Amino acid sequence: MTVSCADPYDPANIFARILRGEIPSDRVYEDAHVLAFRDIAPVAPVHVLVVPKAPAVALPDFAATASDADLAGFVRGIAATAHTLGLEEDGYRVVINAGGDAGQEVPHLHAHIFGGRPLGPMLAR
Ligand code: 5GP
Repeated sequence: MTVSCADPYDPANIFARILRGEIPSDRVYEDAHVLAFRDIAPVAPVHVLVVPKAPAVALPDFAATASDADLAGFVRGIAATAHTLGLEEDGYRVVINAGGDAGQEVPHLHAHIFGGRPLGPMLAR
């Protein structure tokens, strides 16, 4: 089931539970603003999710309600995660799905980092 950007935030969502340590995850980076962990069903040799600690369903409510520190911390956390993973030299891709047409499945904002091989065109035509 996909997420609507208009959904209310549900603190019982799976990434909120991972953030609280109630569910295990393969963590690769953490700071005051984000937690990054490996995707459970990777589609690239490196596939990591960067999750802001501030509660937000998707990009629209995060952009509207998060503090400037949380907004900046999310972007910096994505870059820091890619740096920690050693992806800067060969490059990487960052994807944020927002809502139904994008296929967002988990109702807590997250960025996907893909890397570890040439990633091809951005979308299939
Ligand atoms: P979305 O489609 O919402 O942008 O991406 C959700 C991602 O979360 C998917 O790539 C999916 O494999 C991943 N995922 C879903 N549940 C879990 C989980 O419990 N643990 C981890 N590590 N990844 C998950």
